[in-house]
Amino acid sequence: MIYLDHAATTPVAKEALQAAWPWLTEEFGNPSSTHELGHRAGMALEAARDAVAAWLGCRGSEIIFTSGGTEGINLAIEGLALANPRGRHIVSSPTEHEAVLQSIEYLVRHHKFEVTWLSVDLQGCISLAELKTALRLDTTLVTLMMANNEVGTVHPISRLAALAHEVGAAFHTDAVQAAAWLDCNVAQLGVDALTVSGHKLGAPKGSGATYIRGRLAVEPLLHGGGQENGRRSGTENVAWAVALATAVEVLTKQKAEVARIEAARDRFIGQVQDLVPTAILTGHPSNRLPSIASFCVPGLSGEALLLELERREVIVSSGSACAAGSDEPSHVLTAMGFDAELAQTAIRFSFSHHTTEAELETAACALADAVAAVGGTDKIA
Ligand code: PLP
Repeated sequence: MIYLDHAATTPVAKEALQAAWPWLTEEFGNPSSTHELGHRAGMALEAARDAVAAWLGCRGSEIIFTSGGTEGINLAIEGLALANPRGRHIVSSPTEHEAVLQSIEYLVRHHKFEVTWLSVDLQGCISLAELKTALRLDTTLVTLMMANNEVGTVHPISRLAALAHEVGAAFHTDAVQAAAWLDCNVAQLGVDALTVSGHKLGAPKGSGATYIRGRLAVEPLLHGGGQENGRRSGTENVAWAVALATAVEVLTKQKAEVARIEAARDRFIGQVQDLVPTAILTGHPSNRLPSIASFCVPGLSGEALLLELERREVIVSSGSACAAGSDEPSHVLTAMGFDAELAQTAIRFSFSHHTTEAELETAACALADAVAAVGGTDKIA
């Protein structure tokens, strides 16, 4: 099987699982307990926090461990918006992940926030000038993703954050897809909040972290015992925090693979375009993640292509995992200006640091076969 759906989830790194194991077994203490077993768990948690902070270039006290991207995004968006008395205006973009869109919808529905949605062009890019116009004195928060999960387009976060700061608004970025591939140093990016998810970078599902700058006030989503400096109550998941910190260490050692995957991605895109001349690459041609190549194949159903590829032991996704199984065309592609029918033909290949050139060559040939098979049987009506 050739698994090319790493943007949906990627396997847990052996090192991360091994590092987590003791904290699930003999070292099972509650970090808040005052006995030795609890104390050791507390020390492990803080060491993991410091490691994640070092990776993101911030202080340990600025890291909140969460259950993953969705929780971290909810916490950053709702937490910062509700705790910040500046105003009730938010700026974002329609190509964000549902976790962002729904967090904003919640603030609009229940807390009377107003939102300005920035438009995106055909390649998924937003305009700095449009952001500048959208910003207001009562803008509390700007939230824009670092890299898109469906098409891979990367946004110029440091420039966008600088614009938000000109009017005093806080800036959050969803770095869930970017974190395994791009430098997420928060000081260099100039962001006030940034969210990562463990299961996209070699840690288990249900692990994650959010950076919130310094003493920026944040209204917690979870109320209780006051863990994580009162910002996220609940007994801490020490094992998953340790796994996340270890996965990040593994990632750092794999930095050299990023350029290799980038070159392999470009070769793959070329092969697909040679073998399937009708395939349209989605996203920006160069400002894109090394790990994502997504195509629309006019006239053919993405879901049918996915099944044909699976029969050939190549595992991919049609659009995004969240959209899979629904008949709705991708909200990302439609926001980019693709018509609904073309958006339904999307098929996404996404890679890990271990993906090989040979696997990608096989996948490109399998796609050509799948297109031939679907072309005869399951064209979009
Ligand atoms: N943001 C982006 C860009 C994602 O791709 C995902 C997951 O696919 C999420 C947020 C949600 O993360 P999680 O699955 O950890 O809740």
